Amino acid sequence: MVNEREIIDKLINCEIKLHEIEKYTENIDEALSIRRKFAEEKSGAELKNISNYSINMEPVSKKNIENPIGVIQIPLGIAGPLKVNGDNAKGDFYVPLATTEGALIASVNRGCSVISESGGATTKILDDKMTRAPVLKAKSISEAVEIKAWIQKHFSELKKAAEVTTRHGKLIKIDPIYVVGKYIYPRFVYTTGDSMGMNMVTIATDSALNLLTHKTGVHIVALSGNVCVDKKPASLNFIEGRGKSITAEIVVPKEIVKNKLKTTSEAIVEVNTAKNLIGSAIAGSMGFNAQYANMIGAIFLATGQDEAHIVEGSMGITTAMEEGNGDLYFAVTLPDVPLATFGGGTSIETARECLEIMDCYGNQKVHKFAEIVAGTVLAGELSLMGALAAGHLARAHKELGRA
Ligand code: NAP
Repeated sequence: MVNEREIIDKLINCEIKLHEIEKYTENIDEALSIRRKFAEEKSGAELKNISNYSINMEPVSKKNIENPIGVIQIPLGIAGPLKVNGDNAKGDFYVPLATTEGALIASVNRGCSVISESGGATTKILDDKMTRAPVLKAKSISEAVEIKAWIQKHFSELKKAAEVTTRHGKLIKIDPIYVVGKYIYPRFVYTTGDSMGMNMVTIATDSALNLLTHKTGVHIVALSGNVCVDKKPASLNFIEGRGKSITAEIVVPKEIVKNKLKTTSEAIVEVNTAKNLIGSAIAGSMGFNAQYANMIGAIFLATGQDEAHIVEGSMGITTAMEEGNGDLYFAVTLPDVPLATFGGGTSIETARECLEIMDCYGNQKVHKFAEIVAGTVLAGELSLMGALAAGHLARAHKELGRA
């Protein structure tokens, strides 16, 4: 029988640690309750909403979170229908978006309506890979160059060593391999099935490095040397791609630009050039776009993606051109969107339900999901660019973002 008071007192007196509560409790919900009551006593805050949850904390506490005390709730809405004419996603979709930013879903919804009325977004997956780049240390620059050559020559052995750890992970190349002084940064590049793949490629790369050290004696400084580049916006990822590299385009007839977006193709093209291209260049920004992170963030939170990857998904370039007849050509290109329909947080009940709204949960779904994500980014970007061109941005936020 658990004595709740006794455990809380032990926590307050630092006799046991936060992660040790489970040793004294019979089930995970009991442990959560004690940890939460301890946080309430320590802080004086009343945590009655955090304690309301329906997800099964048992599996979540084993692989998704440590020291759990409950859940947060983020408002969830849907935008759509979004017509997508992709290679993997075909049809009309409703997209779940979790956000606290008033006007965001209204804006994406308007973009979906413009896209659908214009015949649907064409979407493509340009590339698909996940990377892990350790940092190794040789004894000299000569040895560093030799190690680089060894890695290139023995790729198939390293591939075999990496792939024993996983059924779905496939090492497709180790490239580029940078040498900086005595340091060597080989970028291991994998396909990872329907999972985002960071755990998978970390474990696989560790296994390949065991072979490398055994054969060459090179010293492993760190399993990640930041050339991966995980959870940081980076030129390397912009150029080489990481996760899903995705793009979507639409040609919006000039009447729809006028009636739905209340502006002209010419005005949207000018805002794109002046803001997304020149403005971003002045700022040294890696986001040559208006708001990719808004759609990426809201989809990621809804569907159990790794939220720190939103920074990677914020990069990309928006293209806008006026067609000869006055119609608007509009495209988004995102080189670095790590996505999963399996593994990570995707099986948490709320995330799974959100993926299921798009029929995107589980095996053989990640490319379909990636194309819907591309279409959704197109919708949000088009709508915001329309609002800016029409001078409606402040008005929309005043009406929808302020109660
Ligand atoms: P994971 O949930 O650790 O691994 C995916 C699992 O699903 C593997 O065991 C895989 O088996 C299995 N699987 C079954 N069917 C699959 C399918 N159709 N496609 C792919 N895999 C399938 O997920 P992960 O994607 O590797 O890693 C995601 C997690 O990594 C997130 O929670 C994220 O927060 C975290 N993360 C880790 C690091 C790190 O450095 N370790 C960095 C950033 C984020 P097989 O392997 O046998 O194929």
